[in-house]
Amino acid sequence: MTFADFHFEPKLQDGLDSMGFTKPTPIQQQAIPVILQGNDLIACAQTGTGKTAAYLLPIMHRIMHTDHRHLNTLVIVPTRELAQQIDQQIEGFGYFTGVSSIPVYGGGDGATWDQQRKALEQGADIVIATPGRLIALLAGDTVNLRHLKHLVLDEADRMLDMGFFDDIVRIISYLPKERQTLLFSATMPPKIRQLANKILSNPAEINIAIAKPAAGIRQEAFVVYDSQKEALLKHILTTYPWKSAILFASRKETVKKLDVLFRKSNIEAKAFHSDLEQPEREEIMRAFKNKQLRLLIGTDVLSRGIDVEGISMVINWDVPPDPEDYVHRIGRTARAETTGTAITFINEADQRKFFSIESLIGDTLPKLPLPEAVGAGPEYTPEAKRKDNTRFNGKRNFSKGKPSAHRR
Ligand code: AMP
Repeated sequence: MTFADFHFEPKLQDGLDSMGFTKPTPIQQQAIPVILQGNDLIACAQTGTGKTAAYLLPIMHRIMHTDHRHLNTLVIVPTRELAQQIDQQIEGFGYFTGVSSIPVYGGGDGATWDQQRKALEQGADIVIATPGRLIALLAGDTVNLRHLKHLVLDEADRMLDMGFFDDIVRIISYLPKERQTLLFSATMPPKIRQLANKILSNPAEINIAIAKPAAGIRQEAFVVYDSQKEALLKHILTTYPWKSAILFASRKETVKKLDVLFRKSNIEAKAFHSDLEQPEREEIMRAFKNKQLRLLIGTDVLSRGIDVEGISMVINWDVPPDPEDYVHRIGRTARAETTGTAITFINEADQRKFFSIESLIGDTLPKLPLPEAVGAGPEYTPEAKRKDNTRFNGKRNFSKGKPSAHRR
């Protein structure tokens, strides 16, 4: 199957060609015909599957048949980075089409606010918004969403994790009932089902999410005491071949501490977190993307949606609390069929969590011996630690080492 089989508007096809897209991914093969037919859709798919193009392309095709006078499509996303990336994809696909878009997110100055408000009032074809800022703009009462035709909720599970359920319901109360609604989520917990029942009408359902890391990622782990992590990190950064890397930590405070650590070293690294001003975040991301900055330090917010090519290594300073975040973190490397290395530091308290990850991905990962200079680490005995870490028992359905039913 090729994209030509969808018979997109020729100018949209030109955009696809110029972006080098030839073969649709599985989610695109399944979702595009459903969306072109005007059906509602609930799709279980992670970043990396091509889900963004799966909804953008058919929507853009349909927009090309409108008179472009009103705001046509609203895409609601959890983070500003994702909003920007979607906007960039629209720019790429839409280069020859005249389809307009604007990302709407918090931060920025008064001029940004005015620009976002004007774009909403004048009706850009596609608005990609984070919930908080959109609600603030809607409260101004000058934005008219009455002609909206398509609503997309992207990374819906992450939005609910971030506490946006009520905001989303409130935004939807501004929208016409007669519309096409598409919901994309990496997982399908009951709360997503509840949301879907509320806002979708007779949806088609697609399930693409396989919680498996890409085949090109070499995964390794070290079992360490916290006190050994710094030396181990230094060892890896100085002995492993790497061009561009992300160091993940579960908490913002840890990211800040690591930032301080690197300031004292001769490896240039930048921390990326929500306390930074928007221009600073953009500058860091730009430098990382164009490889002026080799090492980025961030939390799991960075693990979702950031699509930077050529990341050769991901280091997990700790084990992420949610097994699926592990897949997201390491998925930052080995994008687009390249190869990469993902290394995880497992301290004693994280052993049980790492075991849950191995269950989720259906693989036992090698625990490498620590380099001599780092000293001997703790034993790896996750089963013995089961009682220490009851968070994963039952609650997330990862018992017996099998992914939960919705993911199969
Ligand atoms: P997503 O899952 O939407 O975050 O997409 C992951 C990456 O795959 C992005 O860099 C896309 O530009 C790229 N991509 C999506 N669909 C295709 C395709 N059919 N052919 C080539 N690259 C693609």
